[in-house]
Amino acid sequence: MSLSLSGIGVSRGIAIGKAHIIVRGSIEVLESAIPEQHQEDEIARFLAAVETARIQLKSIRDNIPAGTSINIASFIDTNLLMLDDATLVDVPIKIMRKHGCNAEWALKLQRDALVDVFEQMDDAYLRTRKDDIDHVINRIQHILLETGSEDAAGDGINLENAIVLADNLTPAETVLLAHQGIAAFATEFGGPLSHTAILSRSMQTPAVVGAHGIQTWVRDGETIILDGLQGVVIADPDEQTLAWYRMRQDEEVRRRARLARLAGEPAVTTDNVPVTLMANIELPEDVQAASTENAIGVGLYRTEFLFMNRLEPPDEEEQFNCYMQVLDALDGQPLTIRTLDIGADKHAGADAIRCNNPALGLRAVRLCLKDLSLFRPQLRAILRASAHGPVRMMIPMLSNTQELHQVLSLVKNMRNALQRESLAFAPDMLIGAMIEVPAAALTAADFAAHLDFLSIGTNDLIQYTLAIDRVDEDVNYLYDPLHPAVLHLIKMTIDSGRDAGVPVAMCGEMAGDPRYTRLLLGMGLNEFSMHHTTLQEVKHVINNSNIASLRPLVDELLYNTKPGQIRARIDSLNSDLTE
Ligand code: PEP
Ligand code: MG
Repeated sequence: MSLSLSGIGVSRGIAIGKAHIIVRGSIEVLESAIPEQHQEDEIARFLAAVETARIQLKSIRDNIPAGTSINIASFIDTNLLMLDDATLVDVPIKIMRKHGCNAEWALKLQRDALVDVFEQMDDAYLRTRKDDIDHVINRIQHILLETGSEDAAGDGINLENAIVLADNLTPAETVLLAHQGIAAFATEFGGPLSHTAILSRSMQTPAVVGAHGIQTWVRDGETIILDGLQGVVIADPDEQTLAWYRMRQDEEVRRRARLARLAGEPAVTTDNVPVTLMANIELPEDVQAASTENAIGVGLYRTEFLFMNRLEPPDEEEQFNCYMQVLDALDGQPLTIRTLDIGADKHAGADAIRCNNPALGLRAVRLCLKDLSLFRPQLRAILRASAHGPVRMMIPMLSNTQELHQVLSLVKNMRNALQRESLAFAPDMLIGAMIEVPAAALTAADFAAHLDFLSIGTNDLIQYTLAIDRVDEDVNYLYDPLHPAVLHLIKMTIDSGRDAGVPVAMCGEMAGDPRYTRLLLGMGLNEFSMHHTTLQEVKHVINNSNIASLRPLVDELLYNTKPGQIRARIDSLNSDLTE
């Protein structure tokens, strides 16, 4: 009998294939005492396991198929870097010496301490870094326990066109599986911000995460359908369902081919209004893909990725080199560098700051202003990079203009210092702010009066307006970009920018969702920044929209629509669009 299970669709596409279930047990680690005379042997056993893990990861990295996004190699490099990190290697050795315990137990104690630290973080992305730690530690534990690798693709089974079902997948496994030609995958756990979800999007492998019960209800080897857009997995489908999804699969292939042809065209509405489409990047390597999609520069460079998976933050020189690398790759197009947006735990190390509400705590600019040893090198590196191309600096999480003035006065001091040191910088580098706190949206005019541009961060704006943690599974259902309060704050920000003659962009996920493109165009937005994979979809909508006719419809929608009817009104706004 056919059975349908739902989860979160994280990578669009439809796959039909045989289920391949990855069964694995949890790692059980027991404590045992190691007599002092054997302690050095135990430490040597631990170091050998770390070395084996390194060899395994290097082999995975070296086998990444040619033409795959560089991103993937850097995910594995991140895991490799962890093997050199004192927190994962030196600390367990210290624990072994201090407690006279076995390597597995020492590693488990250190893992628990690190995970504890990561769980306190308020930043959704950083919190998912806990998965990296688990992936690396589990790999070492398997080697120590001689239980063999649980790499999903390591057992030699032919996985061509299989749909893999697992509790969770490591980024390394995801790469190997893609290499083996799987059609799609679904996991019981994980969220849309996990590395595995990001990888599935960049490899364009259809994927569903958070499909609870999938390994219990689906039988190994049975035919299943996976819809990565709707987040649905259908087991044992009947002929009619199969025929319908095959038709949709063909449509998807045609849609992708159509979109690929759009890359060389400009984004311009049917009434000739040009729209700027920029890319959001996390790593310098992402620029390549953004250029292939013809993005007009980078609208959001999330610099926190530079600070991750290490104990010491990068110094000014390292940051400068990194920004220069991105700038060179952009070849004259603008680069918007967002200053550090890290969470409540500043160094991800032992000196973590704990607080009850990390999302409302010391994050982003608040943390930077409190810890100038973190902020100064970044400001200097950004300013120095500005001498070499169109760099723009963007400040996250501002909630009042005092914070803004503090940052502006720091920038002034940095400029004076650089001048004294005869180091070049652009005196007119553009400075902007993210509008992502409701207080900032409500007072956007005050921010616009002192800045060169604004950019709406809808991910946080929605979280803070609706008082829901964006990564809390229990309240995820309340996360609604179309809540009238959110829409009014967006509109207020766009209007404030227009009145002040200051450009307003949007760089939250909403900007890359084609369902909202017409709504945003009708609100007056003409600068969108998004992950490069959604650029052509949004462009397709723009090139088939007429702003003059959208404006009155959107006004009507904003001011005269009952909250429950907004989604239906948006559907009707999009009704003539073909995919
Ligand atoms: C946002 O909040 O919308 C945003 C773009 O920033 P981040 O997702 O990095 O918090
Ligand atoms: Mg944000």
